[in-house]
Amino acid sequence: MKQIQIGGLVSFTTIDFPGKLAAVLFLKGCPFRCAYCSNSHLIAVEEGEYDPDKVFDWLKQRVGKLEGVVFSGGEALMQSDAAIDYMQRVHDLGFAIGLHTNGFYPDLLKRVVDIVDWIGLDFKATREKYLDLTGIDIAYNRMIESLKFWVSTGRGLEVRTTCDPRFVSKNDLLEIAEISSGLGVKNFAVQKYTPYHEEEAKLTTSADREQFFNDDELKNRIESLFESVVWRN
Ligand code: SF4
Repeated sequence: MKQIQIGGLVSFTTIDFPGKLAAVLFLKGCPFRCAYCSNSHLIAVEEGEYDPDKVFDWLKQRVGKLEGVVFSGGEALMQSDAAIDYMQRVHDLGFAIGLHTNGFYPDLLKRVVDIVDWIGLDFKATREKYLDLTGIDIAYNRMIESLKFWVSTGRGLEVRTTCDPRFVSKNDLLEIAEISSGLGVKNFAVQKYTPYHEEEAKLTTSADREQFFNDDELKNRIESLFESVVWRN
């Protein structure tokens, strides 16, 4: 079997896996080309900088010190069998498994349902804007399929939207929240868009980026739809 390709590692986090002290592994490869991607070095599926066996040995030493391991990216499921096999091995060490995903692989998500305890799923934009933002026309439908499936499992879920004002308006955010709530999502997160490159920063204003966080009416309407809403400003 092809070896997993790991392009980054965070050894300790309290914010990437709700309620758990965790490490994060960033896997190589992503089918999307999001306009705001800050992980462009992870997009190509190529040899990872981290030796998977050494990372695994290090994780063994973290048993009892960390509670969970998050697989992020890139899109972790793009590595298919190699990623799933590694997740299983990490799970077998006793860690809870988290997954940050763009929802593009609903069939693979179905395969990890007994391994993954919680996912953070990107709901990036309304249907009309998904192609513009991600570069893939079937991305929205795949994400919705993943969302419906994961809700049906009853396992941990946070749906998150990064509010890049070039692709998400306040009305869009409300629509995304209403669709998510209607599908049974309980936990929602609104994430501030932070330009990654200097050139990118010129394309939006600070006020554009802040608008989602200082509108009390919008906040109240969104918060009325869920059990919990996190505002990552
Ligand atoms: S899904 Fe994430 S890693 Fe992939 S291109 Fe978009 S922002 Fe980058």
